[in-house]
This record gives sequence, C-alpha cells and structure tokens, in this order.
Amino acid sequence: MDILLKFKEKLPLVREWVDETVAQYQNEARTTSSYSLRNLSQYFLEETLSSAKIVEMDKVPVPPLSSIGISELVNFEKDPKEYDGITLLNTCFLRKVAAKRPELHFHELVHIVQWQILGVDTFLMVYGIGLLKFGYWKSPLEVMARKYTDLFQENEPVFNVETLVRSEVNELLALLKL
Ligand SMILES: [Zn+2]
Repeated sequence: MDILLKFKEKLPLVREWVDETVAQYQNEARTTSSYSLRNLSQYFLEETLSSAKIVEMDKVPVPPLSSIGISELVNFEKDPKEYDGITLLNTCFLRKVAAKRPELHFHELVHIVQWQILGVDTFLMVYGIGLLKFGYWKSPLEVMARKYTDLFQENEPVFNVETLVRSEVNELLALLKL
C-alpha cells in the first residue's frame, strides 16, 4: 500500500495518542515563564510563550508507531538514543536532566509554532513524510528547529522566529504538495 495512503489511514490513531498523552500530563505541566530563561520573549510572541506547557519526565513519550501499524517509522520509535524533548501540540515533554537548557526550550517552542501553523493532521503528515524521506536528523521540521536554535545560541540579533517559521512552513507545504 502506498505509504501516504497508509499514513492518512493511521492518522486518527496517532492523533488519539497525541491527545491522550497531552491530556494525561496536563496536571503536572508548567509554563515556560516558571523557568528563568533568557530572552525568549524577544523571539516568540507572548501568546505563544504563555500557552506553551512544559512537562519534565525521565523519558519522553514517543508515539507507539509500530503497534499503530506504521512499522516504516520504527527507527523513530526505537532509536536507542533518548530524545531530550518531544513536542505534542502546545506541550513540550522534556527530559529532566536537560530541562533547564534554554536552547532545548527554544527548539521545542519552534515545534509549537509549527504545530500551530500546520494544525494536528498536517503537522503529523509533514513530520511523518519528513522522517520517511530524510530520516530524523534531516527531516525538514527538525532542520528548521535546529537552524533557528543555532542562531539563538549564536546570539544572533533578535529575530522574529514565528514569521520566519511561518514562511518556511508554507514553502515546505508547497514543495510537498500538501
Ligand atoms: Zn525537534
């Protein structure tokens, strides 16, 4: 079966997992402002920062892609290295040992902006296609998040990350014909 068709067919199951996972941890979620992080408000809109939720965990949740039936992405799920963070909708799940790092918050906030622009289903499609075609490190939504995080870490003069992400995401959608 065509992989894109299969993705589309499995999308409701992934979305269900996303919704359940986010709901499950809302009680222990903190806001970004409860961390003393430098300068984030110079890069992101206040409404993005105030709606972002942070959950610290020993191990971040990864979608059960193989049991959902998307065995093509099993590497993402089974990757032996542990992810420091994963963002689902407006909630960033951060590994406890890494949760104080400003650049990790920045990276995950870029993902929040991507989720906001794309909406759940399109985000999942674009992310899934990216993983499949390019692998985790080269998948477009990850490359985008790393690029702006690098600029942030290099203390590049303040830039409006949301505008830049929005235009890149739109280019990506055109490229993928989504
Ligand atoms: Zn990322």
